[in-house]
Amino acid sequence: MGLDREQIVELLNEKDPQVVSNLFAEAYRIKVETVGEEVYLRGLIEISNICRKNCLYCGIRSDNSAVNRYQLTKDEVLDAAKFAIDAGYGSIVIQGGERHDKAFAKDIRILIKKIKRLSRENPLGITLSLGEQPLEVYEDWFDAGAHRYLLRIETSDNQLYNMIHPSDPIHSFNSRVQALLDLKYTGYQVGTGVMIGLPFQTAEHLADDLLFFREFDIDMCGMGPYIEHSQTPMWSLRTLLLPHEERLALSLKMVALLRLMMPDINIAATTAMQTLHPEGREMAIMAGANVVMPNMTIQQVRKEYKLYENKPGIEDDAAISKSRLEHFLNEKNIPIGWNRWGDSLRFRNR
Ligand code: SAH
Ligand code: SF4
Repeated sequence: MGLDREQIVELLNEKDPQVVSNLFAEAYRIKVETVGEEVYLRGLIEISNICRKNCLYCGIRSDNSAVNRYQLTKDEVLDAAKFAIDAGYGSIVIQGGERHDKAFAKDIRILIKKIKRLSRENPLGITLSLGEQPLEVYEDWFDAGAHRYLLRIETSDNQLYNMIHPSDPIHSFNSRVQALLDLKYTGYQVGTGVMIGLPFQTAEHLADDLLFFREFDIDMCGMGPYIEHSQTPMWSLRTLLLPHEERLALSLKMVALLRLMMPDINIAATTAMQTLHPEGREMAIMAGANVVMPNMTIQQVRKEYKLYENKPGIEDDAAISKSRLEHFLNEKNIPIGWNRWGDSLRFRNR
């Protein structure tokens, strides 16, 4: 649907519950008509909370000395990958802090190869989310078998980006955009996204984010509410934030609008939505999302991967989060794309 900036802003500001619920229903209908009824699962492995960056919003920023830093062993990651295979997820996401040492790049390459070997008959799809990397590293990991990459632009507004990041060369808006271009050039299915409800963020900023996604021609999107964390500099701005309920409502509208604007991409129902409401992810599915990433990170380290506070599922193990989600989908008669990669239709048709 060719929504223009003014219409997007108007819908983001819409308060009439009937208009909003019609928007969600329309987005859901378009989703079913375009990418089908299925929801695809990707098992999420939070491989390490070691990060060279210091983003002002993130709980695992390098300056937060209250965090115990961990790195999963290869065997721990392979065990999680086996869990995903047995559970029929079809795909995994390996996410973590940004590291630029050679040993890290090499370890990831070895892991990707081992995971591919583990599932030779029905190979697991591998998505990476390991921050900005040199082009050669993106290429190396792609050659090893990763085929999707998630790197959020966080906000498409250069000025707002600078307000939520330290002002130094490793936190530059232009490098973030360049990294997205490098990922596309390498051949990955590229996913990006933004945080919703940031301090100083307006409906106009969010409308521009959606237009940025369309202009960049993204394949996938993962976006969710910004959630304050007490061990970060942005905690001091918490009085400027929308109440949780409104932040979630705004996030759901963003999902629905993006589905109308880009019907054939994959859109994730993100964990941050679940943080603001126990059924936040399910609500996102009903507003047009078609991908969910159940957390498979082992118990021992889960509490150390807190990008934001009150992250759900920290006490759950992978099996419990999985069955809860499946129960909801079954109740709504929403089929799960078991054992399938569930690639972005937009990417396949390009
Ligand atoms: N280091 C990688 C991947 C891990 S961070 C990267 O930054 O790309 C993954 C995402 O978590 C970030 O893109 C950011 O959008 C989100 N995130 C971090 N802190 C957050 C917070 N306080 N609230 C909501 N999302 C947050
Ligand atoms: Fe590191 Fe990503 Fe957190 Fe920034 S958002 S501090 S890059 S983990």
